[in-house]
Amino acid sequence: MSLEKLGLSSPLDLALLAPKSYHDYRLKNRIDDLNELFLDVEIKTIQQLPKITKAVGFAHNLAREVELLFFQFASYHKKSFYPGARLYIAGRGKFFGKLQIMQPKIVASYKVGRIFAQYDVKMRGDLFEKIKERYLTLDRLLSEGLPEEIAKALLIIHYPDEAFFKGFKKEGGFFGIYLEALKFTEAFRYLKGLKNKRVRLPALRSCKKSLDPFIENLPFSLTKDQKKALEDIAADLSRSIAAKRVIVGDVGSGKSVVMFGAAYLAYPNRSILMAPTTILAQQLYEEAKRLLPKEIEVGLVISGSKEDLSRYHLLVGTHALLYQDLPEACLVMVDEQHRFGTEQRERLKKLVQKKDGAPHFLQFSATPIPRTKALMDSALVDFSFIKQTPFKKDITTKVISKEDFKELLSHIKKEIAQGHQVLIVYPLVEESENYGYKSLEEAASFWQRYFDGVYITHGKDKEKEEVLKEFRDKGKILLATTVIEVGISLPKLTTVVIVGAENLGLATLHQLRGRVSRTGLKGYCFLYTNDKSNERLQEFSKITSGFEIAELDLKFRKSGDILSGKEQSGRAFKWLNMAEDRKILERVRGLI
Ligand code: ADP
Ligand code: MG
Repeated sequence: MSLEKLGLSSPLDLALLAPKSYHDYRLKNRIDDLNELFLDVEIKTIQQLPKITKAVGFAHNLAREVELLFFQFASYHKKSFYPGARLYIAGRGKFFGKLQIMQPKIVASYKVGRIFAQYDVKMRGDLFEKIKERYLTLDRLLSEGLPEEIAKALLIIHYPDEAFFKGFKKEGGFFGIYLEALKFTEAFRYLKGLKNKRVRLPALRSCKKSLDPFIENLPFSLTKDQKKALEDIAADLSRSIAAKRVIVGDVGSGKSVVMFGAAYLAYPNRSILMAPTTILAQQLYEEAKRLLPKEIEVGLVISGSKEDLSRYHLLVGTHALLYQDLPEACLVMVDEQHRFGTEQRERLKKLVQKKDGAPHFLQFSATPIPRTKALMDSALVDFSFIKQTPFKKDITTKVISKEDFKELLSHIKKEIAQGHQVLIVYPLVEESENYGYKSLEEAASFWQRYFDGVYITHGKDKEKEEVLKEFRDKGKILLATTVIEVGISLPKLTTVVIVGAENLGLATLHQLRGRVSRTGLKGYCFLYTNDKSNERLQEFSKITSGFEIAELDLKFRKSGDILSGKEQSGRAFKWLNMAEDRKILERVRGLI
């Protein structure tokens, strides 16, 4: 008998297959609980009555007579219940003059004499017990690496004692140290799996250099978190193993300068930086030329070209990079990594990968993640977090609805009069019945009638980059769908209005809000909704840090969502709650 027969691959899997119920199959000579009788019965007579079948027997453990009543006396009952037969039975009893049990169940003898743990497995119970005996032992669990008290708690779950059994009944499920052991083991198994999956390739180059000259020549001083991220990266690049790091920082936290710092560290070796849109690539290109020393040649790749790219030290580009004959590079970076598919990111890396080594690989993300998720994923990649922003953003967030529209209009007029810009985000492009909000197309005529400088774009708009650029330079109001999520910088944008805000995820709301006040101007975010008391929106309006929002998001979602469908495991957690179990996760992480 082996674990594979059950589709399991380790004692940890087996330990996590928690019983679905427990039954006391110890023979007692008195009745403790009439609802859960367990008897050793010798059948005396069988009697077929008009509607029921009645067997009379003698319960040896209770030393008394018992009547067994069946509404359905199936053929397997016939085989087991006959005069002279002796069986173990369980059922709910009642006194009706005599002790009676309705529709009793036969209990197989291997279950008898203990509190029996019942499982939901597709295997004969007695065979499953054999597997348990073999694999669920303290030795095995300890050699999997579990701490002793966790292993012991797991064993009690599978080989219950009296105290656990009582607790389980009272709590209606796993509790205390036992529940914790399941959570712990689940996290432990997951992280161990991730860790084993992590591939460590040799680096093409290790680059040791001081970052000080770069930092000293910047027109601003770096924030503490930017410095720390660059220190992490400097340590990565100096190693002979290819780095794999994700740098997470809120919109406006200043990730670009960290990319340039990394390119500086890699110089004179080449770096490649890929961004999701042409505008972003151009922005990064301009910034790189401004912030990097002159000797570092920066090139831009936004469409196929025959140019010899090997004269550049830093290549900035869009996915057009993927179709180029790329020169050797020791550092590959991806900005706004979530805008790319895994395949594209891997492809970029593979383009510069050699037989004898891989490039250092840095990915940048503007989607803050909850601490628990970072703890989980950190077995596979390293993380750096940029939590501070260089400018104190001053954004007022308000939940508004129909009755506040007039006030909103006068606010918009006031902002425009000061040369500021306004973004209004609609949930849908075209009209749709029963949605409760105007679509982009329906609303457009209203804004165009009362304002000039109104620009319109949406996700499927082929010209959206041009529209955004033109708006940036001379627009007043931009009507858009959530496409604007792409991180183009609009320095004069001070107000964002999000229509039907309750239908958007907190991360998206946060991204949209992050568009305004990027250069220190006072910003406003209006969440327009028909449901003004919406708790999610109300809480969102009080928080500005992306990392806190990630925690909040977790609170409003089931924790399974966040990891389900993940490539690493493909399954959600059954016991672990990502919103609540940070302590447990930290402990597991410390162990792995
Ligand atoms: P994001 O993390 O959203 O990509 P950016 O890198 O685009 O942010 O930075 C936003 C703006 O802040 C840029 O104009 C950048 O030059 C500026 N910036 C970055 N770091 C600092 C800093 N430490 N002090 C002042 N300005 C900074
Ligand atoms: Mg950016």
